Amino acid sequence: MVNRQPVIAIIGAGIAGLEAARQLAALGYKPVLIEKAPVVGGHVAEWNRLFPDMTPAEDILKPLIAQAAQVQTLLDTEISAINRLKDEYNLILSDGRSLLCQAVLFATGFHLFDASRKEEYGYGIYDRVITNRDLEQWFNNRHDLRVDKPKAVGFVHCVGSRDLKAGNSQCSKVCCITAIKQAIEMKEEFPDAEVYCFYMDLRLFGKKYEDFYIRAQRDFGIHFIRGRVSEVGEAIDGRVVVKAEDTLSGKPVKVTLDLLVLMAGIVCNPDAQHYAREIGVAVDEDGFLKSRDNLAAITQSSRPGVFFAGACTGAKTVPETLAEARSAALAIHHYFNTRK
Ligand SMILES: Cc1cc2nc3c(=O)[nH]c(=O)nc-3n(C[C@H](O)[C@H](O)[C@H](O)COP(=O)(O)OP(=O)(O)OC[C@H]3O[C@@H](n4cnc5c(N)ncnc54)[C@H](O)[C@@H]3O)c2cc1C
Ligand code: SF4
Repeated sequence: MVNRQPVIAIIGAGIAGLEAARQLAALGYKPVLIEKAPVVGGHVAEWNRLFPDMTPAEDILKPLIAQAAQVQTLLDTEISAINRLKDEYNLILSDGRSLLCQAVLFATGFHLFDASRKEEYGYGIYDRVITNRDLEQWFNNRHDLRVDKPKAVGFVHCVGSRDLKAGNSQCSKVCCITAIKQAIEMKEEFPDAEVYCFYMDLRLFGKKYEDFYIRAQRDFGIHFIRGRVSEVGEAIDGRVVVKAEDTLSGKPVKVTLDLLVLMAGIVCNPDAQHYAREIGVAVDEDGFLKSRDNLAAITQSSRPGVFFAGACTGAKTVPETLAEARSAALAIHHYFNTRK
C-alpha cells in the first residue's frame, strides 16, 4: 500500500476530472480538483439529452457530482504557473496559493470550434444560423430559438473539423451522431418541419449509432444530403438559403430554411498545451496532449507523474471519457505503488 499520502492535482472538473477524483478517493487518496469555471460538469453540464439513449445529461452528472462531493474542489481557479521539480510539480494558483503535488492529472477537456471563423456559413452574421451548442442550450432553457415554429431546419456537419484551412484536419467523432440526435429532437418538437443533414461522410462508429440513423430516416423522415455546403445566404424575409452539391445524385441543391445548425467540431484546449509545454509534456501534431502510447498507455504522458483523462487527448464520447478516467486513476495508483 501507499506509505504516505501523496498530493494529486486534477486540472479540470468535467466528467473526466470528477470520475477520476471519485475513483482516487475510493482508492484512499485525497486528490484536489482545480476548476476554472464557477461550476463543475464541463461540457456535459451544457448538454440536454445524450446519445445513444437520449439520457438526460443530469442523470449522468448528478451521481458523479454527489460521489465526488468529498473531494476538495477549488472553483473559479486557474493555474498561473506550473513548475517541474525533481519528482514533483509545483502549481501556482490564480488566488496566489501554491500546491506541491506528486502527480498531476490533466482533465482539461476540449474547446468547441469557433463557428464564426467559417464566414461562409454565416454564424454571427445571419440571425438564424446557430451552433450545436446553441441548440443544446435552447433544449435546456427554451429561450430564443430565433424562430417560433420552424418549418425547415438544416444541419451542417464537419464545421471546423476535417478542414485543413480551419487548422483542424481531424474528425471530431461525436458530431455526426449529435446531428442525428438533434435532428430527431427537432422533429419531435416540430413534427411538421422538414429536416436536412448535409454531410461529407457519416461516421457512426458506436454502439446503437447505426440504429439511430435508421430511425432518423425511417421514423422521422429526415433527409440526408451527401455534399459540402458551398454557400449560405439570407433571404429577404430573414430565412437562410443554403446551396450545396449533392454528390450522390451529382445535382446542385438549394433549400431555404428557417434555421440552420452548424455542427462545430472539437478542438484542443490551449490551456492544456500551455501547461504541458511549461513542464515538458509532449503535445501531439493535432494540438491535443500526446499519450505515451496510443494503444497501451493512453492515460499516461511522456513524463513520470503526469496523466491524462478524457477529451484533453482528442474527441471522446461520455462512456469513453468515463472509462479513461477510471483507467487514469488506476494508472496513478500503480505509479505510487511501484515507484522507488
Ligand atoms: C455538441 C456536443 C454534444 C455532445 N453530446 C454527447 C452525447 O450526447 N453523448 C456522449 O457520449 N458524448 C457527447 N459529447 C461528448 C462529451 O461532451 C465529452 O465526452 C465530454 O465533455 C468530455 O469530458 P471532459 O471532462 O474530458 O472534458 P470537458 O467536458 O471539456 O471538461 C473539461 C473541464 O476542464 C475545465 N478546464 C479547462 N481548462 C482548465 C484550466 N486551465 N484550469 C482549470 N480547469 C480547466 C473546464 O472548465 C471543464 O470543466 C458531446 C460533445 C459535443 C461537442
Ligand atoms: S463526426 Fe461526422 S460531422 Fe463530426 S467531424 Fe467526423 S465526419 Fe464530420
